[in-house]
Amino acid sequence: MPGTLSFEDLKTAIAAGNIDTVLACIVDMQGRLMGKRFHAQHFIDSAYQETHCCNYLLATDLEMYTVEGYAATSWAGGYGDYVMKPDLSTLRPVPWLAGTALVLCDVLDHHTHAEVPHAPRAMLKQQIARLAELGLTAKMATELEFFLFEKSFDEIRKSGFRDLEPISGYNEDYHILQTTKEEAVMRPVRNHLFAAGIPIENTKGEAETGQEELNIKYAPALDCADFHTISKHAVKEIAWANGRAVSFLAKWRSDKVGSSSHIHQSIWNDRDENAFCDPSGDYGMSDTMRHYLAGLIKYAADYTYFLAPYINSYKRFQKGTFAPTKTVWSVDNRTAGFRLCGEGTKALRIECRIGGSDLNPYLALAAQMAAGIKGLQDKLDLAPPASGDVYEAKRAAEVPHTLRDARDALRKSKMLREAFGDAVIDHYARAAEWEIEAFDRAVTDYEVARGFERA
Ligand code: ADP
Repeated sequence: MPGTLSFEDLKTAIAAGNIDTVLACIVDMQGRLMGKRFHAQHFIDSAYQETHCCNYLLATDLEMYTVEGYAATSWAGGYGDYVMKPDLSTLRPVPWLAGTALVLCDVLDHHTHAEVPHAPRAMLKQQIARLAELGLTAKMATELEFFLFEKSFDEIRKSGFRDLEPISGYNEDYHILQTTKEEAVMRPVRNHLFAAGIPIENTKGEAETGQEELNIKYAPALDCADFHTISKHAVKEIAWANGRAVSFLAKWRSDKVGSSSHIHQSIWNDRDENAFCDPSGDYGMSDTMRHYLAGLIKYAADYTYFLAPYINSYKRFQKGTFAPTKTVWSVDNRTAGFRLCGEGTKALRIECRIGGSDLNPYLALAAQMAAGIKGLQDKLDLAPPASGDVYEAKRAAEVPHTLRDARDALRKSKMLREAFGDAVIDHYARAAEWEIEAFDRAVTDYEVARGFERA
């Protein structure tokens, strides 16, 4: 579902004094909204056509550092401008902020006005177009897991990130009593996002103290990624407005389970039927599903970087935590990397359980679609499903153990280079490398506590 405001609706709302601010945002490499807050009048007079941002926005790290080593942008290149081109189909109100609307922008080259190829939205649109050439579309849903904390972002930062008390004192998986106590944050999250045109299904307590899950109805892939990005942003702002913090770190404590972002996907034909379904196939699976899933599995290591982009992301992949360690598939079994859901029904789909809550949904969906498309093109065979406790499966391929391993697999991936082009893959391999370099320089709490006296 696109945005809920037409350009005419926006003009009417501005004239009536209901909207005075328009947020124009691009999505950065980390999946964050970056942009400008426009006076609404200037937006409808001129900025709706295009506005501009520094091209370092698609080459920074989480801390906005000017990372060196990118071919696309650098000090030597002068850090010029990109065009931010509002995609007016994404225009929507921001009900949790007074008088505010939001529009997502595509990122264009300042001179040629061509889409910047390593812009996350452009990468996803490119794979959607490749799938469309096969007469198919992808419908996706990303689950958002995160932790809700007692204190605010500022209090936690000022404590040196030590004052981390989750909002609940016990594992609240599916708990109604505990989640009732969290409604001051979670009810506005559901209702404001719904009013912003995002088809929220539910929120629930997850399997750890203070852990939450937000589910959004499956949608065409670009809408799914837009929904995820806006929802994650909203969760942070609504928590902030309530004096609380949330964290989408994949693993914030070694003795607690991590947060994931499972990706549900199915492929649809031009009659808007789920092309994964064939009642005569094993588990109700069509050949389309078998080939697509075989592609997802074969290239899992190649694209893991896009599901787990930081050093921290890899701390989540631990046995017995519901985060997978093996890239095999299974039928409704939460110990495998890929879970077949909705067996024998029209909701037949595959859930990829590898992604962490820290993923950028545009990159994750684009990379998975590229792998699935390759599976379809090469008519890859699907191995039989794994069963039982897949953590203990012998000879099953493993999720890369570290960001270094994932970076190497990304760099070497012929499949991803064919799908996105060398420049794009080199750009993200550099982003991965930078995360490794930055961490290698850091002296951590762990090292100090372990060695301060005893080394
Ligand atoms: P569970 O309770 O097992 O996690 P849900 O019913 O909550 O499963 O569904 C999980 C996600 O799967 C939801 O976001 C839902 O919209 C999505 N989903 C349902 N059907 C499909 C489908 N055919 N393709 C992709 N995603 C789907």
